[in-house]
Amino acid sequence: MKDRDAVDMIYTRSIVSADENEANMQNAMENWHLGPEETSVDPTDNKEFWSSFADVMSLPENQARRLFCANCEYFDNTPETMKLMEKIPLTDFDMDGGGRGYCVKLDFICHNLRVCQAWDRKDFEAED
Ligand code: SF4
Repeated sequence: MKDRDAVDMIYTRSIVSADENEANMQNAMENWHLGPEETSVDPTDNKEFWSSFADVMSLPENQARRLFCANCEYFDNTPETMKLMEKIPLTDFDMDGGGRGYCVKLDFICHNLRVCQAWDRKDFEAED
């Protein structure tokens, strides 16, 4: 069994205040194409958002729809960061979106089922 306490010794993340989180989320919406506002796993929903996001990313729409905060390298949803985010009250935006994670690129609470144009691939490596 892994020593789950060991990670506390190397954990150094800090996050923004609630006001800064709100301001940085607005920045992501206005300048980084954050969305969709209402999320869905249905591949035909939110056509307007995904079509424009695909244009921004220079990808076919079906490929753009596979990009999420959840698989972005800047998305931190470690248990330790989940705990830090608990100090920021939940909003309507949190009630949709598939759960919180912290964007270390734009410094705000984003969500598994949203994405923005700063997306970059998260490496995945499984131990044998
Ligand atoms: S940079 Fe990544 S984690 Fe941050 S909002 Fe954009 S897609 Fe989500």
